[in-house]
Amino acid sequence: MGLLMSEETVNKCCECEEIVDTEGDFGWSTTKEDYLCWGCYESDQNHASTVQLVDDGVVRKYYIGDHIRMDEFGDDMYNTNFTINREYIHTGGWSGHYETTIEGWTDIMNGWTTGGWGDPIADRKAIFNQWAERLLTGEIEYDIPIAIVADPTSNVFSMGISVLTPEPNRLVEWMEQGGDYFLLKNALS
Ligand SMILES: [Zn+2]
Repeated sequence: MGLLMSEETVNKCCECEEIVDTEGDFGWSTTKEDYLCWGCYESDQNHASTVQLVDDGVVRKYYIGDHIRMDEFGDDMYNTNFTINREYIHTGGWSGHYETTIEGWTDIMNGWTTGGWGDPIADRKAIFNQWAERLLTGEIEYDIPIAIVADPTSNVFSMGISVLTPEPNRLVEWMEQGGDYFLLKNALS
């Protein structure tokens, strides 16, 4: 970090204000450009949203926390030209969800999904989950960049999902022609 350490310099975690042991393990807040203690750093990673971005046959995965902005290899995102923001939306009481957005990209569908538990809701969600799987493995391709964003919610069994693209009109038109758009929208609702 290039900071000169002196007795007057005490680095505090920008999340919990604990003094950060810069000789040991510590984290860094990309959003605040400030120190994080290891505990807050790990917690932010565990509660991170994921952005899986498919562009030109290449899939990249990014982790977006309150503090972290990193790719799947743990590198920061300074070498990408994406500006990704996240905020927490309170929906009353203890419930709420994160909402992650990419500057210049538009949300063409959103809702939530859950794992496969074999009940009717999970079966409906499976339509979306299978499409996402096929997109991320290259089994279906669009010549338009697409991002699948998964945001944690206050219900640990469900994930908020949104599908973003810089070319919403062209992508929706394409998906409507394939008959996928309304099925997928319905699966997320
Ligand atoms: Zn902390």
